[in-house]
Amino acid sequence: MTGEAAGNGQDGPDELYERLAVHVGQVAAAGGEGKDPVNEPMIRHWCEAMGHPVPADGSAPATMLQVWTMGGLSGHTAGTARSSAYDDVLALLDEAGCTSVVATDCEQEYLRPLRPGDRITYDAVIESISPRKTTKLGTGHFVTTRMDVQANGELSGTHRFRILKYAPARPPDPASPRADAKPAVRATRPRPVVNRDNAGYWEALERHELLIQRCTGCGTLRLPWLPGCNACGCPDWDTVPAAGAGTVFSYVVMHHPPFPAFDPPYAVALVELAEGVRVLGNVTGVPYDKVRAGLPVTLDFLTVDGEFTLPVFRSVEAGEG
Ligand code: ZN
Repeated sequence: MTGEAAGNGQDGPDELYERLAVHVGQVAAAGGEGKDPVNEPMIRHWCEAMGHPVPADGSAPATMLQVWTMGGLSGHTAGTARSSAYDDVLALLDEAGCTSVVATDCEQEYLRPLRPGDRITYDAVIESISPRKTTKLGTGHFVTTRMDVQANGELSGTHRFRILKYAPARPPDPASPRADAKPAVRATRPRPVVNRDNAGYWEALERHELLIQRCTGCGTLRLPWLPGCNACGCPDWDTVPAAGAGTVFSYVVMHHPPFPAFDPPYAVALVELAEGVRVLGNVTGVPYDKVRAGLPVTLDFLTVDGEFTLPVFRSVEAGEG
C-alpha cells in the first residue's frame, strides 16, 4: 500500500475515494444505550449552562438530543464502541496523509419530544463520504455519520455529524520537531471552526483587533459572537474593538491530558475585559504558577502555526523591565 498523495489537490483518479466509498451505508456504531434515562436534573443543568429556558411542559429541549447519547468522562459501556468500518475509514485517510480533522457542522431533526423517564438507544451509520475536496484548511474528504436516536424503541430524532479529515495545506515545519514526534508530521494546534456567524471575529484577529459584538437593539455586548442577542432577541449587531485591558477572572493549569501541540503545564484563563465580556486565552509573560484570579493582563496576539491568530493575555505585573 502506497499512501497515495491525496493530500496535494492533484488531479488524477481518486483511488482513495473509491476505497473510502465502499464504507458508505455501513454501521458506524450499533446498539448504543444512553447512560441515563432522560431526567429532570440533567435538563435543568443543561438549561442553566446554555442559558436556555427550562421548558414549562417538563420535556427536554430538543437540542439536547445528542446529550443523552454521550458517554461522559467514563466513556461508553462496552459493546457500544464505534464500528470497525468507521475505524477503517479513519485509518485509510490517515494513511493517505489526511491526518488532521475538524468538525464542520451538525444537523439535527426532531421527530418526538423527549420526556423524563424515556430510555435512549441509538445506532449510527456512515451516511456519506465526499470525493476529494480542497478547502482553505487543506485537501481531504468530508465524512458524514447519521445517528438515529430512539426513545423507548421509537425513533425520536436524528443527528448528522460531519467532519473534514484532511492533509494540512501547509507542509510540516521541520524547524522544531519534538523529540517524540513522528518525522514529517508536525503537531498543530486545533483549528477554530470559522463560519458565517463568526468569520468577522477571526478576520479581525488577523489585523490584531479583538472585536466584541454589540447588539444594536439593546446595546448588550457579547463574546463569543452569536447570531442574535440573548438579552433581547435582536438579530442586528455591530462591533466595538476591545481596548486591551483585562483581568484574569478564573483559570486552570493544564497538566493532563498530554497533546503534542501543547507543552504542559500551561495556564488557560478566562479573562474579563474592561468592556465587561469574558474571553478564554493563554496567559503569557508570567510562569503558569503565578497566574491568579485578579491578575491584570493586556491583550496580545499570537499567530499559530503560521495560519491563524489567537488572542492571548500578557501579564502586566511580571516580565517588565
Ligand atoms: Zn439586545
